[in-house]
Amino acid sequence: MRKILISSCLLGRPVRYDGSSKRMHHRQLDIWMQEGRLVPICPEVAAGLPTPRPPSEIEGGKTADDVLEYTGHVFEQDGTDVSTEFRIGAGLALEIARTNGCQFALLKENSPSCGSNTIYSGSFNGQTRDGQGITAALLAQNGIAVFSEYEIDCLVSELANGGEKRRHPLKRKG
Ligand code: SF4
Repeated sequence: MRKILISSCLLGRPVRYDGSSKRMHHRQLDIWMQEGRLVPICPEVAAGLPTPRPPSEIEGGKTADDVLEYTGHVFEQDGTDVSTEFRIGAGLALEIARTNGCQFALLKENSPSCGSNTIYSGSFNGQTRDGQGITAALLAQNGIAVFSEYEIDCLVSELANGGEKRRHPLKRKG
């Protein structure tokens, strides 16, 4: 059975920075859950960050790859550097994906960890930009196909077509 790594907040776990969840309602998700196909992870909690916690964003003009390569940072709004925790969380997510044989991931869009197409600007102004979160980027670098919750139908099609491993096309800024 092909397993799917999934952001645990999408399953209703209250792990978001503000202590909330982002429970996703989709018939296919319920089926996958019953099949035991889903492998939940919250990279930020796995890295030891508390819940609730201050919101964090990848600094403006930098990408997740920059953070993974130690040339960019993730900051909380007061300037606290949490880059290390985000890299640790990404590494743990990759380890769990590999342990469970996950070739696919369904991740929460816009998150500095889990965003797969868009993330927040880095200015804490509520605006988004093209880019990936740290975990999504590390998974993609390692051949895991990453989908946002808005792309679940694409993931369903991918699995129906035999689940041939592919790299999700990235929309990157710059
Ligand atoms: Fe959800 Fe990912 Fe944020 Fe955790 S890090 S709360 S799993 S979006």
